[in-house]
Amino acid sequence: MPRVGGIEAGGTKFVCAVGSSPDDIDVGEVPTTTPDETIQRAVAFFEAHQPVSAIGIGSFGPIDPNPTSKTFGYITATPKLAWKNFNFAGAIRDSLGAEVAFDTDVNAAALGESRWGAAQGLDNFLYLTIGTGIGGGGMVNGRLMHGRTHPEMGHIRIPHNREQDPYKGSCPYHGDCLEGLACAPAIYARWGQSGEALPDDHKAWDLEAHYLALGIASWICTLSPQRIVLGGGVMSRKKLYPLVREEVSALLNGYVEAPEIVPPLLGARAGVLGAIALALTL
Ligand code: ZN
Repeated sequence: MPRVGGIEAGGTKFVCAVGSSPDDIDVGEVPTTTPDETIQRAVAFFEAHQPVSAIGIGSFGPIDPNPTSKTFGYITATPKLAWKNFNFAGAIRDSLGAEVAFDTDVNAAALGESRWGAAQGLDNFLYLTIGTGIGGGGMVNGRLMHGRTHPEMGHIRIPHNREQDPYKGSCPYHGDCLEGLACAPAIYARWGQSGEALPDDHKAWDLEAHYLALGIASWICTLSPQRIVLGGGVMSRKKLYPLVREEVSALLNGYVEAPEIVPPLLGARAGVLGAIALALTL
């Protein structure tokens, strides 16, 4: 296997790795600051781990992942203004002289789970991350999901009972979309404490499971996934898995069967291993 590089590009840090599988990777991290500084530090990591034949990037977004587009490899409409319209793939390609594969952070993680983790052997599955934001990717008919650009599964509308939950939602674009109601900053804003600080028996978790299940039931009905992998910081609260499964079954009400809903087998490494897997497709 060739040694390739992977970058899981997040809003607070870039996780960089070199290797060819979960068993042989070297991992480093650089903080996400300005594009110039962050790219320079990432490039320095790969230069210290040469030879690297190709680089895969799983990036926060929205991005342009379409190789035939003029703005392929760009970060497009992000609220992180310094990164808006930044030619991310181009900057890495030009600095390292390596071929670059570019996709969303969640499609990369989905590919990693498909190659080495919880989605092995499946042609239709979803990978969701529930953390600072909510994002979704995965495969349909054995291919990573793309369209005009890529899915933005966190921004779907879900029922919001404002009497039971008066919180207006945290999404700067939509207010109370799924991400606006159920991401980690929404939990903090609604309850005045981070998810990590809330006890297991807090009513926050029933509400969280309810919102996630509303999204998941819609995706089950539209995409018919064989399995759903739920990752991200919020899902480190293990009791969410049984709560979500129960709520999804209740919402589907016997009409279609719910697929398995599982944690990522690659854990916190799903993103960067996915970026390695992306590079291995080149
Ligand atoms: Zn939104």
